[in-house]
Amino acid sequence: MVFKNEFSWSKSRDNAFKECPRKYFFNHYGFWDGWIAAEKDRTKRIYYLKKLSTKEIWIGQIVHEVIEYVLKQFRLGNKITLSHAIAILRKKFNADFIQSSLKEYTGFSSKAHKFFEDEYGIKINDEEKADLFKKAESCLTNFFNSDIFMEIRRTPLEDWITLEDFLSFDFEGNKVYLSIDFAMKKEGKIILYDWKTGKERLADCDLQLTCYALYIAQKFNISPENIEARIFNITLDKQDVFEINVEKLDEIKDYIRTSIREMKNLLENVDENIAKEEDFEKKEGYYCARCNFRKICLEGWDKE
Ligand code: SF4
Repeated sequence: MVFKNEFSWSKSRDNAFKECPRKYFFNHYGFWDGWIAAEKDRTKRIYYLKKLSTKEIWIGQIVHEVIEYVLKQFRLGNKITLSHAIAILRKKFNADFIQSSLKEYTGFSSKAHKFFEDEYGIKINDEEKADLFKKAESCLTNFFNSDIFMEIRRTPLEDWITLEDFLSFDFEGNKVYLSIDFAMKKEGKIILYDWKTGKERLADCDLQLTCYALYIAQKFNISPENIEARIFNITLDKQDVFEINVEKLDEIKDYIRTSIREMKNLLENVDENIAKEEDFEKKEGYYCARCNFRKICLEGWDKE
């Protein structure tokens, strides 16, 4: 089966584009086909680097995965206790640390986890490792003890809306991808939830949640006033409620439209979604220090 690199839009794609166009190119074009053993080594290296994750991103992901597992099991009628959830977390935590220390670039694609820090020679010491686990454990504890989890458990299963991994909708002929952590119907409204484990700016959250609301409004054909978006920062055990209204939905539509136009303006062939690396400038600066592609972009790994 031949996959085609189709154009799509997502909030994370927009972030990468704004941070550095070259990083966006590597993430969405340069890596393509890098999973094929016969591909050029440079492409395979870009694909390998794309999959690195920093310890902060990774810890957030595994907390999300465990919560998703707990909710999916609950839906199946299996109650997972907090200590069981922490045991799952511990297993995944240890396995990923081992995999990351063993895995190196081999020229073949691999599903093994690799830390950005290990690839770039930044040591994660024992104290940092213990702090990471403590943070994840406290997130799970906060989630289990939260009113939100209680409210979810009390809500009839037929009112749970989504626990799918990747959702998409059509926006003026473009596919928009999003991933909603949880949504349910309540008293004639749809409530969207997003779990946060970091220190995201509220303005970014607002944008992301309005995008989710756009999807919900379109899919369920309901008015924005009947959608409520909530952020649950499980690290801080703090909840924020975001208002959704017609003006906000119009704003997000304008935002996505402009972002798509800017991305497509740089393409060599818009219909075929073909991009040339030189057309995506390197924005060297703040983001380079934590950029997965530094080895290829600035350190000459592709010349070895
Ligand atoms: S290393 Fe810097 S310039 Fe290169 S892709 Fe990353 S952020 Fe952009």
